[in-house]
Amino acid sequence: MCNHMSYLSQTDPEIADIIEKERLRQTNGLELIASENIVSCAVLEAMGSIMTNKYAEGYPGKRYYGGCEFHDQAENLARDRLKKLFGAQHANVQPHSGTQANMAVYFAYMKLGEKILSMKLNQGGHLSHGAPVSFTGKFYQVAQYGVDPKTETLDYGAVGEMAKKEKPQIIVCGASAYPRIIDFKAFQEIADDVGAYCMADIAHIAGLVATKQHPTSVGVVNFTTTTTHKTLRGPRGGAIMCNEEYAQAIDKAVFPGMQGGPLMNVISAKAVCFEEALRPSFTEYNKQIVKNAKVLAETLINSGIRLVSGGTDNHLMLIDLTNQHLTGLEAEVALGKAGITVNKNTIPNETKSPFVTSGLRVGTPAVTSRGMKEAEMRQIGHWIASVVKDIKNETLIAQVNREVTAMAQKFPIYPTV
Ligand SMILES: *Cc1c(COP(=O)(O)O)cnc(C)c1O
Repeated sequence: MCNHMSYLSQTDPEIADIIEKERLRQTNGLELIASENIVSCAVLEAMGSIMTNKYAEGYPGKRYYGGCEFHDQAENLARDRLKKLFGAQHANVQPHSGTQANMAVYFAYMKLGEKILSMKLNQGGHLSHGAPVSFTGKFYQVAQYGVDPKTETLDYGAVGEMAKKEKPQIIVCGASAYPRIIDFKAFQEIADDVGAYCMADIAHIAGLVATKQHPTSVGVVNFTTTTTHKTLRGPRGGAIMCNEEYAQAIDKAVFPGMQGGPLMNVISAKAVCFEEALRPSFTEYNKQIVKNAKVLAETLINSGIRLVSGGTDNHLMLIDLTNQHLTGLEAEVALGKAGITVNKNTIPNETKSPFVTSGLRVGTPAVTSRGMKEAEMRQIGHWIASVVKDIKNETLIAQVNREVTAMAQKFPIYPTV
């Protein structure tokens, strides 16, 4: 184990016990939630470090507290590595989350009541892109595009038409549940045509973008926002990249605009993550994520399961359960009992509520981090197909669960000593 928890188990055995149970859950099950990953021991150590003890409001060289010389070094390393990783002119590594990163861009470049044009939540977009329940839907006007009902992929012509009609201030692209390549250049051109800014939220695909497994948005669109904890495999957090001309406004919007002191332990861990991501092994890892997703998708399709848009180009796929006469909720619960963690998800042309749904979102980043490859993906695909086709068969589910645990234990998430 990289975290021994020796103090924690003395001070707070209740929490230590919960963490141990969670460790066993992660170890013995298969994590196929597309937005999750398994960080390295080095990232965990930085996150759990004494860097948490200090206030460092401001930015390197311009802090509002004394004693920040080492925090400056850590944040500068994080910024420089992120810039190098994506070829960005400017980077802000302080946003506490992906949502905060998006909030900072809106706060910097939109007045209250101006309009966002973004992807519909139930077709792959994110809450922070203008959902009525999010601050974005309350502070701004929102117009939304979806996918083409037939191809279930983005229709750039239709987005362009909407942009002309709606005259948004910011056009948002990037998604939480879109299995295909996104043409960021096309989005920036649409924005340029109507005098809007373009923001690409690459939260899900940041690792793929950094390693050129997906075309980049950095330097292509005005603002790129991301999380650091999905395919990038770092600590939970956010970041923003942009050209120099936007740097000052973005930095001011993050601090003092909408955050106080940065989480310097997390920023240190982001620096570690970016260093790891600059290594050739991280490119190999991201290539394998995509290969694994393709093999898993093929296995599901060959077992008679329909995937939204017919497949995947990235790290995730959306299963359409309509012709299995099942809801996403039922399938999520059954697969959970089998030790396979996925999340129910709306699909294009959804007829059910977001709490029930007709789909499942399945992703390969976490299982790929454990070292699983094509053979394991075929096995996982067969397990998923057999469970969703025979969801009431408790004997089958128990059998799959035993097999899942046996396979999971062959791919430990952390060293055991
Ligand atoms: C995950 C995600 C976010 C938000 O991340 P949080 O850190 O949970 O706030 C933002 N945008 C997209 C597209 C995402 O998938």
